[in-house]
Amino acid sequence: MHCSVFECSNVEEVITHCESCSHMPRTKSYKQRYMCIMCSYCGYQRAQMRGHLFSHTGLKPYRCEHCQFSSARNSDLLKHVRIKHGIV
Ligand SMILES: [Zn+2]
Ligand SMILES: [Zn+2]
Ligand SMILES: [Zn+2]
Repeated sequence: MHCSVFECSNVEEVITHCESCSHMPRTKSYKQRYMCIMCSYCGYQRAQMRGHLFSHTGLKPYRCEHCQFSSARNSDLLKHVRIKHGIV
C-alpha cells in the first residue's frame, strides 16, 4: 500500500482519498473514478466504493434483522436472509 490514509478511521476520508490520490496509476475512464488503495478494485460510485472499503476494514454495516448475522455486502445479506430464513 502506498499511503497511510487507512490509519484514519473515517471511511469518508478514505473514499475521498481514493478519488483524489495522485499516486494511483489512473486512467481517464470514469469507471476508475474511485480507486481502492489496498487492491486493484475501482468503481465510479461513492456508495460502491464505501461498500468495497468495508470489506477491507472488516466493518459490516448490513445486519440481519432476524438474527445476529452481519455482512459487509448487501448482496450477501440478501442471500443470507433468503437461505437461512426463507424470506425472498
Ligand atoms: Zn494515496
Ligand atoms: Zn480494495
Ligand atoms: Zn439472519
